[in-house]
Amino acid sequence: MGDENAVSELPNGWLQVKVPLPYSLKWVNAYLLPEQTGWTLIDPGLRSEEIESFWNETFTDLGIRLQDIRTIVLTHHHPDHYGLAGWFQERTGASVWMSKVAHANALRLWGENETFSDELTEAFLRHGLAEELENEIRIHMRGFREKVSPQPEDVQYIAPGDRFSMGGTEWEVYGGEGHAPGHLLFYDRESGWLICGDQVLPDITPNIGWMAGGDPDPLKSFMDSLRGIGHLDVSTVFPGHRNPYSSYQQRIEELLGHHERRIRKMAELIGDDEKSAFEVCELMFGARLRNNAHNLRFALAETIAHLVRMEKLGLIVRIEPAVTDGERPTIRYRTAR
Ligand SMILES: [Zn+2]
Repeated sequence: MGDENAVSELPNGWLQVKVPLPYSLKWVNAYLLPEQTGWTLIDPGLRSEEIESFWNETFTDLGIRLQDIRTIVLTHHHPDHYGLAGWFQERTGASVWMSKVAHANALRLWGENETFSDELTEAFLRHGLAEELENEIRIHMRGFREKVSPQPEDVQYIAPGDRFSMGGTEWEVYGGEGHAPGHLLFYDRESGWLICGDQVLPDITPNIGWMAGGDPDPLKSFMDSLRGIGHLDVSTVFPGHRNPYSSYQQRIEELLGHHERRIRKMAELIGDDEKSAFEVCELMFGARLRNNAHNLRFALAETIAHLVRMEKLGLIVRIEPAVTDGERPTIRYRTAR
């Protein structure tokens, strides 16, 4: 896995490390910021044996010793960013920083005795998930646990509105909702740099997914968040996936437009019939998703997030029969009249 193209030195002296991912996203960006002594590591990646080897080889190539990593900063708790935080902390003693909300989510989703996998699977079944996919989704969700273990023992919190020093810059901390609860962004007014995690990705639209027990209306949170940070004067965005880019405000407009179009498309797909979220999902994203639990889970969560928003906008009506003994009636949506 040792790939010499995995590390790029950026014009500002940081290292961008493309940490491999076993998904269609291909890689997550870790950033290494030089400090007076040692380095700060942002978003170390998913935990697996291959990725541990990748880091060992990368550090050997760079002449960085593990103990040179003094601080680990996480933009959000998703496994592709947070997964190796505990592994690194065990080996380096580095302090780990993230938002309190993100940490609480990591523990709820992947902690001891978690119930989230069951809650999400049950919610998906109520939204019409084909029953033959029930176990696949549950196993898929439980499978993330090993990809984030060990979780960091000792976590320190950063909150929106704070100032946070790293890489010789005193950053303004912003919050970004919708993609992940408690997501953090770091902005420097002087240089115009923005470390944005997955909030404002180039080329790809971050997944906006409804999650059992999470944000009840994540698409609204996401769009409000984008509008809230759209005024920042940004020269370079350092995203969690793909490469650093500069067309920040244009990208925000594109993302807002994308979700507005998707809402109109889903309204069309519902048409004159009642449909479950799973039916809308298959019409929107294609039935081949049944062969890929990872993508199916993202697609269904994304569909529900849009349907929730459309209901709040008064475009559709939710029909939710009461649960009775042994029955699991499907939630359906129809066009509002
Ligand atoms: Zn990500």
